[in-house]
Amino acid sequence: MNKNRILVTGGLGYIGSHTVVGLIDSGYEPIIVDNLSNSSEKAHSRLEKLTNSKVVFEKLDIRDHEKIRELINHYKPHSVIHFAALKSIPQSIKNPLDYYDNNVSGTVSLLKAMQKEGVKRIIFSSSAVVYGNIDKPATEDMSIGEISNPYGFTKFLGERILIDLANSDPSWSVTILRYFNPVGAHSSGLIGESPRSIPDNLMPFVSGVALGKLKELKVYGNDYPTPDGTGIRDYIHVVDLANGHIAALNKNDHGLFIYNLGTGKGHSVKELISTFEKVIGKKIPYTFVDRRPGDMPNVIADPTKAHSELKWQTKYNLLDMCRDEWNWKFNNPHGY
Ligand code: NAD
Repeated sequence: MNKNRILVTGGLGYIGSHTVVGLIDSGYEPIIVDNLSNSSEKAHSRLEKLTNSKVVFEKLDIRDHEKIRELINHYKPHSVIHFAALKSIPQSIKNPLDYYDNNVSGTVSLLKAMQKEGVKRIIFSSSAVVYGNIDKPATEDMSIGEISNPYGFTKFLGERILIDLANSDPSWSVTILRYFNPVGAHSSGLIGESPRSIPDNLMPFVSGVALGKLKELKVYGNDYPTPDGTGIRDYIHVVDLANGHIAALNKNDHGLFIYNLGTGKGHSVKELISTFEKVIGKKIPYTFVDRRPGDMPNVIADPTKAHSELKWQTKYNLLDMCRDEWNWKFNNPHGY
C-alpha cells in the first residue's frame, strides 16, 4: 500500500478536481477514476497544467465491480475519496432508479472492491440535504432522514451503509463529510463547475445570466420567513471545501467520523445576487417565481466540530466566491 496514494472517484468533477489540486499541493498522489458522465477529459489536462505534474486518470464506472477491484489491486491506494455520484435533485425526482443505481449501487460496488483488496479508509461526499427541514444551524448529532427527494435518500443511504460497515469492522476508517453549498472556482480560472445541462443550482444560474447565456434568473420564492424573503444558504468556496478533505485525510484515525463542511454563515439569494453584481459591475435581471417544493428557508452549518477535530477553517467570503466564479465563467464561457 502506498501511503500517499489516494483514489479519487469522480475526480474530474467540480469538487473532485479542486480536491485533486489540494492533494497534489499537500504531497499526495491522486489516482482519478471517473466515467465522464458529468465531466470532461479537458478537466484532466487542465489539472496537469495547473499542478505542473502528471495526474493519473482512469476512465471507469465504479459500478463495474471487477474493473474497480482490479484498479485498486493495481494502484494499492492508502485511502479513497468518493465523490462519484449524480447530484441533481430535480433529475432524481424524474429518474429515481438512475440515482439509486449510480449513487447507492455504485457505492456498494466500490466498498466491496475496497474490502476485497484490504483498503479500508474512505471519505464520503454527503450533503446538507440529509438534514431535511431545519430551524437552527445543523449539528452532526441532529437526527437525519426527513428527506423529500431521491437524491437526498441516496446520500442518506450512502451514510447508512458506511455507518453499518464501520460498526461491523473497527479496522475501517470512515469519514462522512456533509457539504453545504459549494460555489466559486480555483483562482487560476483553469478549473470550475461545468454543468452539462441548464444548472439547478443558484450560482451557475447567476453566472449563466451574467454571461448572457440565460435570459434572466428565476428566484424561487420571496415569501420565506427570512429578512428579505428569499432563501438563505451556507455558501462555501469550493477550495475551502477541497481543503476540508485534506484535513480529514491527514487525521487518518480508525472509526467513524461525521463533519459538516460549511462556513456557519448564511447569505440570502438576494445578497448573493447583489454581491455578484458588485463583481461584474452590472445588474443581473431576475424575477420571482413560486417556491420550489422541498426547498427550505434557511440551511446553515454549525462547523464547530470540523474546526476543533480537523483543525480546518474556511478562508474565503461571499465576495471571493463570486469573484472566482466569475473569473472561471468569463474565461471559459462554454465550460471545458
Ligand atoms: P460533479 O457531477 O461535478 O462530479 C461528480 C463526478 O463523478 C463527475 O465527474 C461524474 O462524471 C463522476 N461520476 C458520476 N457517476 C460515476 C460513476 N458511476 N462512476 C465513475 N464516475 C462517476 O459533482 P460535484 O458537484 O463535484 O459533487 C461531488 C460529490 O459531492 C457528489 O457525491 C455530490 O452528491 C456531492 N455533493 C455536491 C454538492 C454540490 O452542490 N455540488 C453538495 C453536496 C454534496
